[in-house]
Amino acid sequence: MNSSLKFFGGVETVTGSKHLLNINGANFLVDTGLFQGEKYIDKKNDEPIDLDILSIDAIFITHAHLDHCGYLPYLIRKGYRNKIYATAETLELMKVSLEDSAKLMKNKKESKHYYDQNDVHRALLQVEVVKWEKSLRIKGVEITYYRASHILGSSFVNFKIKGESVTFSGDLGRYHSIMQIAPQDLCDTDTLIIESTYGNRDHADANAEDKLADIITDAIKYKRTVLIPAFAIDRTQMILHLLTKLTAHSNLQIPIVLSGSMGIKVTEIYKRSSEFLKISEEEFENIFKRIRIIEHSNDLENFLVKSQGPQIIVAGSGMMSGGTILAHLEAFGQDANNVIVFTGFQANGTLGKQLLNGDMNVRIENQEIKVFEVQSKIESIEGLSAHGDRNDLLRWIKSGRKVPQRIFVIHGEDDAREAFKEFVEKNTESSAICPREGLLYDI
Ligand SMILES: [Zn+2]
Repeated sequence: MNSSLKFFGGVETVTGSKHLLNINGANFLVDTGLFQGEKYIDKKNDEPIDLDILSIDAIFITHAHLDHCGYLPYLIRKGYRNKIYATAETLELMKVSLEDSAKLMKNKKESKHYYDQNDVHRALLQVEVVKWEKSLRIKGVEITYYRASHILGSSFVNFKIKGESVTFSGDLGRYHSIMQIAPQDLCDTDTLIIESTYGNRDHADANAEDKLADIITDAIKYKRTVLIPAFAIDRTQMILHLLTKLTAHSNLQIPIVLSGSMGIKVTEIYKRSSEFLKISEEEFENIFKRIRIIEHSNDLENFLVKSQGPQIIVAGSGMMSGGTILAHLEAFGQDANNVIVFTGFQANGTLGKQLLNGDMNVRIENQEIKVFEVQSKIESIEGLSAHGDRNDLLRWIKSGRKVPQRIFVIHGEDDAREAFKEFVEKNTESSAICPREGLLYDI
């Protein structure tokens, strides 16, 4: 029987990953991501998708980012009752990210409420934990998870029947990350579906640590408050690790504040799972000793009134589209002495992107609507991405015993996908294709 692939998102854009694999008569859905970013992409969550939820035999989640799992409680609300598979670390992180997602939907008057905490709870109960390299069998198909090293628990997933093998990369990490150990070698596979977020780029070899040291030195000298908007999963832990390391030097001592419950919960999960990371449990303990935590709204209000520089505040969300960073922006961002430091990708349509573009007149919805002009300086630190660049991706494609025959390039803007398709065909024997959303591909 022929196998086929159909993509419902995360193809021509980096968000909304939902991929249907029909193999050996079984329907498997790999990832259930929300579309995020610009309003027109958000709207895509509302479009009815040509997917019969009741025909899905199992769902496989590659990792806990919302653009890969944020649609899951909605499928539960729509009646999906079969198993969902994920690693233990992904399950822990999904609990945090999905609960936060439901909370954000509830708080944002303008956005649609796709699900609530009840749906999240039911979704998590349907998850069966899988271990890396321990295969399971469903409808005659052998399924195996492997470590992808993008964030904690992230995986690439292989589906195998006699004479056929299909692998989804999920989001793939880097070979030289500050925090994650390298991804596992690619398993034997005929067909590979691979992400291409940075398919047309090489990561800048910028030394993030040196840049951060300069920012701390200036902050101490000029009594600055430094705001670092950071993604709660992975980036926050990486930044806290770098800050803890740097501020151990006597000339770089400065108070470090971690604000927001999601970043705190995720850092605790990372600490418990440090066996899969380059940062030890002891180093995580040092982080907790070193930082001041602001979790509750009373503490936050108190802090905003009383605190002053020099200090560094790490808070979510990473693109300033919500979270406690907005309260800090309002309190500290109107002072020209302070600085806002971006450490990650800022999508079009987000407040982070607006500030990076130099448009300082902001309107934020932080319980009530606030309008003001940001006066602080804007800085950016490159080189901390959790995605492999095109050389990492190619190295991984070649890391197995054989190179896949067919490669589907997904999860990238069109220019990145096309460039990576060419890059793959130039450097391997594989034939590559950039599939389109909603079309059926025989494999
Ligand atoms: Zn991801």
